[in-house]
Amino acid sequence: MSRRVRVDVRGAVQGVGFRPFVYRQAQKLGVSGWVENTAFGVRLEAEGIPDAIATLLRMIREIPPPNASIVSIDVEELNWRGDDGFVIRPSAADGARSAQILPDLATCEDCLRELFDPNDRRYLYPFINCTHCGPRYSIVEDVPYDRARTSMRHFPMCPACRAEYEDPLNRRFHAEPNACPGCGPRIALWNGKGATLAQDHDALLAVADAIRVGQIVAVKGVGGFHLLVDARDEAAVIRLRARKQRPDKPLAVMFPTLKDIARECDVWPVEGSLLSSTARPIVLVRRKEGSIAPAVAPGNPWLGAFLPYAPLHHILMHELGFPVIATSGNLSDEPIATDETEALVRLAGIADRFLVHNRPIIRAIDDSVVRVVCGRELVLRRARGFAPAPIAVDGMRSGTLALGGHMKATIALTLENAVLMSQHIGDLETVAARATHGRTVADMVRMRGQAPRLGVRDLHPDYATSVMAAGMGLPLAGVQHHLAHVVACMAEHGIALPALGVAWDGTGYGIDGTIWGGEFLLITDGGWRRVAHLRTFRLPGGEQAVREPRRSAVGLLYEAFGDDAFAMDEVPLLAAFSHAERAVLQTMLAQGVNAPVTSSMGRLFDGFAALCDLRQHASYEGQAAAEFEWAATEAQTPYEFALCPGARKDAPFVLDWKPALDTLLGDRRCGVAAGAVSAAFHDGLAAAIVSVARRIGERRVVLTGGCFQNVRLTEAAVAALRAAGHEPIWHRRVPPNDGGIALGQAVWAACTEGQLPRMS
Ligand code: ZN
Ligand code: ZN
Ligand code: FE
Repeated sequence: MSRRVRVDVRGAVQGVGFRPFVYRQAQKLGVSGWVENTAFGVRLEAEGIPDAIATLLRMIREIPPPNASIVSIDVEELNWRGDDGFVIRPSAADGARSAQILPDLATCEDCLRELFDPNDRRYLYPFINCTHCGPRYSIVEDVPYDRARTSMRHFPMCPACRAEYEDPLNRRFHAEPNACPGCGPRIALWNGKGATLAQDHDALLAVADAIRVGQIVAVKGVGGFHLLVDARDEAAVIRLRARKQRPDKPLAVMFPTLKDIARECDVWPVEGSLLSSTARPIVLVRRKEGSIAPAVAPGNPWLGAFLPYAPLHHILMHELGFPVIATSGNLSDEPIATDETEALVRLAGIADRFLVHNRPIIRAIDDSVVRVVCGRELVLRRARGFAPAPIAVDGMRSGTLALGGHMKATIALTLENAVLMSQHIGDLETVAARATHGRTVADMVRMRGQAPRLGVRDLHPDYATSVMAAGMGLPLAGVQHHLAHVVACMAEHGIALPALGVAWDGTGYGIDGTIWGGEFLLITDGGWRRVAHLRTFRLPGGEQAVREPRRSAVGLLYEAFGDDAFAMDEVPLLAAFSHAERAVLQTMLAQGVNAPVTSSMGRLFDGFAALCDLRQHASYEGQAAAEFEWAATEAQTPYEFALCPGARKDAPFVLDWKPALDTLLGDRRCGVAAGAVSAAFHDGLAAAIVSVARRIGERRVVLTGGCFQNVRLTEAAVAALRAAGHEPIWHRRVPPNDGGIALGQAVWAACTEGQLPRMS
């Protein structure tokens, strides 16, 4: 009595040692047949006694390889054929492509042991890897995932490597990037002109020497170049900031070990496991007094820390033994450089030396950024280690392509019951960034081997993505920015309708043509409705207000007090403007010229921060709001936000900040510190969310938008909602900022199939 089955395993099952795993189990069980990679995952046929087949199926379900993520297993009964033995077949490359490509994986413990073993043939070899670790997404040119379709195809394996690769019992069996010093990629040290100064381990030692004396070194890693500099050397850090044109924005620090991070920062257990996970993201941890130079993250209680994830980093950090800044190799706002000759040009004048290697990077992938909120991870930037893992979304149909927003852009493509999200691309302010966005779209479509049926864009007419969408030659749907934020969060958690979305951010195009940003949207199966919003005010100078928080403050004062605002000399920020500037501002506000109306919560944060004299000018987006958050002390009596009915019947409620502003002005006159004002402001907003949820009568409340990167606000809102019997929902693996927009766009448009949903 024999049984033969065909098994289709779908999910992230290629490049994780799945076939060898099946092979070994089959050998053990005396099962014959074959296993192969296909364009949708892994397929196998197995025959043997029914007990053995049942055990094999159970093994696949219950103990698959550690990095595999199985979406489905389909078993079909076949007629017995009498195969001899079990084989691993070469890959089939045709047909629809739904195989998932794995994210890049941090070096595993086994490989690390070999890396530092003087008797191993890969001792100190910077490209050591196995079926459980190494580059994946960053080297893949096409699917199925096989060496011939990765950038490792340029390196024919030596006999020793090939023997490992072909031995089903070896842990490098079909490790596609398998390599050794004899046959694999090599590193070299270049000067700024591309002349080779040293090679192999000598190059690495020379880089360590350069970093020790305060030089800036560009290092080609997994998804692109990093700029490295001694994180303890204030002068070197300041030099890096000046050359990179990045005055204040925090820089990430790579530490040799988790212990080294714990010496400089308070690391909670959940943060420790994130830091050590195979994704190895940058994790924001609370810093203590230590050796890190103040210029790394000025005035910031948090430090973006991470651990080595490629063998090259492990060797370098082992050699150095101290923390280094490892920030993206780019000029402010441009995408990360990936190619060494391109890096020479783009990083000229920034890096003193270049540590390069000859394994091509197929796509740029930045480091991911994560922080812990309410005891679990909140991904702020989803890139290396997370992308391109799909987000499971029930009922999704394939073929909808969403282009995302404008800042922190990502793109999304729907599959059956899942959505593929691209890695973080960046702000589309530069030509280079827009080109990367275009390439990412083409890349994603090509890898799926399936043309999209529907394109999705933001409603903003001037976004680069809106222009690109028009050129795609596809039927198009537009999805409102804040609706996309709410839907992204709901999709991530599989939340059923209805729900009240609280979408708070800096800016997003509203359906009335004004700038939205402090929105409450009720989403039901009949569509969506703006049920409340922040009281509007004008932003004198428009976009300039993003760089000058004091302009938001003036806008608030003018809305509240009219022309009298300009007589309030006791408000220090007004004194910061010259008489001429004040006259211009007043005219702008009075006549509504170059002073757009907004309900932006981000700008409300900016305005309050400026009124506390924390920051009048910002060098990066959200700086004032972040500093306002950092200043917050323990709980205070919350500021009051009044919930008022709209002007017309059926108009949205208005959340009025005027009572909070009045209290703030009084507090500041009495010398209340900015930290106490900030705490009262945050807690007041949390209470305001509860009052809107109660008025609307909705139990489920979704917290989304860039403002919910703020841990103080999110934790206060979650606690207040829970205390009032509501069910708060907030982000986890999908960013609350505009990095999540593409997912929300794709899901909403796919669900409504391009029909513009009912809006009011
Ligand atoms: Zn390994
Ligand atoms: Zn070799
Ligand atoms: Fe947004």
